[in-house]
Amino acid sequence: MSFAELGLIPELLQAVADAGYTEPTPIQQQAIPVILSGLDVMGGAQTGTGKTAGFTLPLLQRLARHANTSASPARHPVRALILAPTRELAMQVFESVAGYGCHLNLRAVCIYGGVDMNAQIQELRRGAEIVIATPGRLLDHVQQKTVHFSQVEVLVLDEADRMLDMGFIPDIRRILELLPTQRQSLLFSATFSEEIRKLADRMLKNPKLIEVARRNTVSETITHIVHPVSAGMKRNLLAFLLRNQPDMQVLVFVDTKIGCSRLSHFLTRNDVSADAIHGDKTQQQRTETLDAFKEGRLRVLVATDVAARGLDIDDLPCVINYELPHTAEDYIHRIGRTGRAGNKGRAVSLVSPEEKHWLAEIQKLIKFDIPLEPVPGFEPETPEHAHGHGRHHAETHAGRPSTSSKAAKRTPRPSRAAATPKIAADGFDFSKPYEPSSAKAILQTTPHDRTPFKPQRPLAALLGGLGKK
Ligand code: AMP
Repeated sequence: MSFAELGLIPELLQAVADAGYTEPTPIQQQAIPVILSGLDVMGGAQTGTGKTAGFTLPLLQRLARHANTSASPARHPVRALILAPTRELAMQVFESVAGYGCHLNLRAVCIYGGVDMNAQIQELRRGAEIVIATPGRLLDHVQQKTVHFSQVEVLVLDEADRMLDMGFIPDIRRILELLPTQRQSLLFSATFSEEIRKLADRMLKNPKLIEVARRNTVSETITHIVHPVSAGMKRNLLAFLLRNQPDMQVLVFVDTKIGCSRLSHFLTRNDVSADAIHGDKTQQQRTETLDAFKEGRLRVLVATDVAARGLDIDDLPCVINYELPHTAEDYIHRIGRTGRAGNKGRAVSLVSPEEKHWLAEIQKLIKFDIPLEPVPGFEPETPEHAHGHGRHHAETHAGRPSTSSKAAKRTPRPSRAAATPKIAADGFDFSKPYEPSSAKAILQTTPHDRTPFKPQRPLAALLGGLGKK
């Protein structure tokens, strides 16, 4: 099927050709005709499916019917509102709108928090048919009366499940109350929980359900691995795994902003090109880091769930969960960055005994057990080891398993497992004997990553072997 067959106007067909797309993706094939017909849509689609063009192209076509060539701001009222959960996602949607709309006489503005409001006010004053916004900042503008919704014809709620996770639902309800009831509404979400359905009931009228991937399922091209490891040894194991695959670009997920910064500093100190992206970074820092990662200048991007949400990163061969997400559905979101479009991907999780209940939740959701692959020298202690000499946990060089009892004597630091032997004892079957010889073998075959990272494309071809003996 071609884009022309979907009924798009020449200006949009030209933009799609400019972007180099030859064929609509499945979500585009389904969504574009339905949205063009004016119906409401409840769309089940993850990032990476082409959903942004799926709603942006028909939205632009609808607005183009009455586009105004006048320069007067009054002639360019807000006619479409697109809500996105994060600044990054809002910016990405804005870029798509600007790109696909480049042959049309429509204006767009991107509104998000964390930056001065004045520049946004100036842009709104100039007039814009399309406002792409995060909910909190949009309400700030509502309060200051710098944005008006009386002419809104189309509302898009992107990544509704993440809006819910981030506590934006009350904000969205407030925004809904300000919009004309006569409008077309589109809601997109990777998953459909009860709360999302309730929101959809309130927001959509007789929606057409469009789903491209089955709910709560993961791509079949992803290989899942769990490396059992004590919490205290995780960063060393991570450095070790990264050294084992010096050419692989990796997105690493951590739970907290502080953990995110610390881990990226630790990796940098250990000669791994890494940077962090989280909510405390300025917009400019986040954009620069993301660009560096996308362009391959940065090898490891350490991110929190919130910051990574919706990031449009192609061709990622591997995602590492440094800590397991506390919501099983976030596991699906995180690893959705790999194994895209039929490419192979790896989802690696470093799991401490304390995290086993989260692992159980994830396995319940994805409906299979993830294979456990202990890495020699990094296995968590068994109960009897936990009371002993802490040989496994002697931290010598980061990213190297401890092989020397001398080193262990220098750093008799008790591991978290040692402090909580009951939890560890209740964990996985970690009873494999410690074998220094196999750990040594890994050390000898592991090149030190001192050379600058040079990505080799396609990155997906570099798969395999991460952490394997
Ligand atoms: P999205 O799911 O909207 O985040 O899009 C994921 C990626 O797919 C983006 O980089 C788009 O530029 C790209 N894309 C969208 N539609 C197409 C298409 N029809 N053909 C090829 N790539 C596409």
